[in-house]
Amino acid sequence: MNMNLPPVAETVPECKLTIMNAGFCIIKKSHLLKGADPSDISVPSLFFLIKHPVHGNILFDTGYSTRYFEATKNFPFSLMNKITPVKITEKENAISQLLEKNITSKQIQTVILSHLHADHVGGISDFNYSTIYVSKKEWRYCQQPKLKLLFKGYLKQLFKNINLSSLKQLDFEESGCSYGPFFNTIDLFKDNSIILVPLPGHSIGQCGLLLNISNKERYFLIADSVYVKANYQKNKGGSLLSRIAHYNRKQYESNFPMLKQLEMDNPDLMIIPSHDPNLYSQFISK
Ligand SMILES: [Zn+2]
Repeated sequence: MNMNLPPVAETVPECKLTIMNAGFCIIKKSHLLKGADPSDISVPSLFFLIKHPVHGNILFDTGYSTRYFEATKNFPFSLMNKITPVKITEKENAISQLLEKNITSKQIQTVILSHLHADHVGGISDFNYSTIYVSKKEWRYCQQPKLKLLFKGYLKQLFKNINLSSLKQLDFEESGCSYGPFFNTIDLFKDNSIILVPLPGHSIGQCGLLLNISNKERYFLIADSVYVKANYQKNKGGSLLSRIAHYNRKQYESNFPMLKQLEMDNPDLMIIPSHDPNLYSQFISK
């Protein structure tokens, strides 16, 4: 399996990526990687700000937000906060951190959601002026009743107020094109800068984002295709409990060899899952 990416043209608009984090959940290390010691670990929830020279500010996911506490106040939704206790303060919400950088919600033109789990859509209600992209499959699936969704890791309350007029459903099957080794991708602005790649398995309609800046600087934001880079590097998933939480475990695990090959064939590609504590240390806490 050859996973070589096409070269980045010199004419590609020069985007800038800022890696940020909104909130942590506390879980056992072995949840991320089976065989790890059973002590607790603070797991980050990364989100990403991309500055595009033409299309403005783009977010990929929004992390947790303090709305999580409101959404999990009552039983049975409180079960989620029992299983994955969350730590976040108001000033750690994505919107507060962006305001610190003098970016208001009006200045976020686009939000792309990798999928609709609580740790990715936590802050979405703060971005009422943005066009919101989510895969059609994911959106349709999430029209189920909130109780059913709870047991799949979703808190419907966090995304039920998304304004349908600002929502754009990504239909990868219908409008996707191949890009190098990937099938059914969507070139968001048709300029080769942001390529959305379907990565189902963890959830039914998860998508990743390939950011082409130059041949020396490109990123693949893979959301929860793995929890930590060691999952694909060692071809080892998380604990049994974490594995049964995926929408399709076989499909999820089939991404491991693909990602390993992708990393080997593209040494300048930085693969970034959303919950790897090592990446948090590398990019955020210095
Ligand atoms: Zn997640």
